[in-house]
Amino acid sequence: MEHRSIAIDGPAGAGKSTLARQLARKLGFLYVDTGAIYRTVALKTLKSGVAPSEKEKIVPLLDGLDIHMDYGPDGEQRMFLDGENVSKTIREHRVSDLTSQVSAMKEVRDFLLEFQRRQAREHNVVMDGRDIGTVVLPDADVKIFLTAAPEARARRRLLELEQRGQTADYETILHDIMDRDERDRSRAIAPLRQAEDAILLDTTNLNLEESLNAVLSLVKECIGL
Ligand code: C5P
Repeated sequence: MEHRSIAIDGPAGAGKSTLARQLARKLGFLYVDTGAIYRTVALKTLKSGVAPSEKEKIVPLLDGLDIHMDYGPDGEQRMFLDGENVSKTIREHRVSDLTSQVSAMKEVRDFLLEFQRRQAREHNVVMDGRDIGTVVLPDADVKIFLTAAPEARARRRLLELEQRGQTADYETILHDIMDRDERDRSRAIAPLRQAEDAILLDTTNLNLEESLNAVLSLVKECIGL
């Protein structure tokens, strides 16, 4: 059976994961957070003591990479690295920055491409990331490019971290977000960009409920769900 797919791309902190999760729940689709998969690869390099610049050491790490993904009792996507649940660790600040360096490598992106596509072959998915509409699922039924002003994104990320019990400071987050966006946008392979057939949604002045309603009506318009 052909499965349905909804691609949500955009810069860090635009609200992709929150919206994609809620949308998936409403539609009964699987939510696939591809950032978490890239973060897990980055964590592997960190644990192996390999610097992001040491490309020749990262490539062999991919061969023996033991990454596994499942969904917990609460429906949350969980990531496992070498059998260990790393879902919390991959959210740490040091991992975010490293991830955007490691994910710029062609070998890393090629390695994860099939992993991501398989999810969409096997399930109806809402998948979020940076290159879902452009590279991973170019034939997605609905493509949304979600964005918001950097300051709004930094404020939301701060709140999210605080809710997870982590300490953070606004200026550092804003700086980190802008750095990461620049790196994700300017990389040679699968850069962050809006697919030609993606619908742009700017959530700077929308709260979560308004954003979700906007996404839901776009989905309805496109595939009548
Ligand atoms: O979405 P999240 O902020 O968790 O992603 C972390 C990093 O992973 C991004 O900054 C980006 O460099 C990388 N990423 C990517 N392609 C994706 C998803 C994430 O390059 N599809």
